[in-house]
Amino acid sequence: MDMLSLPTVLIVDDDRTSRTVLADLLYGECRVLLAKDGPSALQRVREEPEICLLLLDIAMPGMDGYEVLQALHANPRTAHVAVIFISGLNDARSEEQGLLLGAVDYVVKPIRPAIARIRIRNHLRLIAQRKELERLASRDGLTGIANRRSFDESLQVVCQLAARRKESLGLSMIDVDFFKQYNDLYGHPAGDDALRRIAQVVASFARRPYDLAARYGGEEFVLLLPGVPDLDHLLERLRTDVMALGLPNAGSDVASVVTISIGAVHISAGGRHDPALLLEQADAMLYQAKHQGRNRVVSGAYASTSRF
Ligand SMILES: [Mg+2]
Repeated sequence: MDMLSLPTVLIVDDDRTSRTVLADLLYGECRVLLAKDGPSALQRVREEPEICLLLLDIAMPGMDGYEVLQALHANPRTAHVAVIFISGLNDARSEEQGLLLGAVDYVVKPIRPAIARIRIRNHLRLIAQRKELERLASRDGLTGIANRRSFDESLQVVCQLAARRKESLGLSMIDVDFFKQYNDLYGHPAGDDALRRIAQVVASFARRPYDLAARYGGEEFVLLLPGVPDLDHLLERLRTDVMALGLPNAGSDVASVVTISIGAVHISAGGRHDPALLLEQADAMLYQAKHQGRNRVVSGAYASTSRF
């Protein structure tokens, strides 16, 4: 069974037996994580962006389930996580309060396993459908890879993950050389086709779950790669792979075929960084690559203060 393709659900209950019963119930349906109180549940959700659903007890010492839900929804980064209350509070008032606060469902303990499983499964299906819609909205219409909006949203998350996992991180900005000339010479349909083919090459370098290739705008792409030990080597291969497409460009001053310039910034493992500054520095590297004659990779280490 491929656990990575299953949705991730966090069970939050102070009672060990309740946690076990629910975990057994969901065996094979999803990847299950456990928390025994509110604060540790909130921390887990912040650390694991894969968590899409909380099965949340209400009566817990310290922080109750209502408070956990409110804290979850108060944070824009965790507000999308769905909550099903699983509670021993078997009265209309508690249920009403839970649903009013924004829970998607309310299941009374002791649970009826077969029914609880179906209800949870239905919610997971709705969550998957919503995710698919979001995925479609995050695609660039021309090239089919991620769009700018999606990149902007992911940058912060990937930066935080890399810092937490003490991984290195590389951000590259990629620009097609002499693309205006290409469009003028061969026409916009050919230009669109070139962008699609280049996008596929760029995307082929983003294979792991947190890698991200996106169209940044016009003829510009971005590539965000955590944990790549030799970024420059990889980017050099990207540059030559694009040349190997063999798209003739008689409008280019540097080659007979379409080429790209790449500006990259890398952060060493465990380094701290500001996503906006990272983007600014990658852009400055790209400018240098253009300035130094195009069809090349220019990269540098991230600097914690702005150079401008
Ligand atoms: Mg309890």
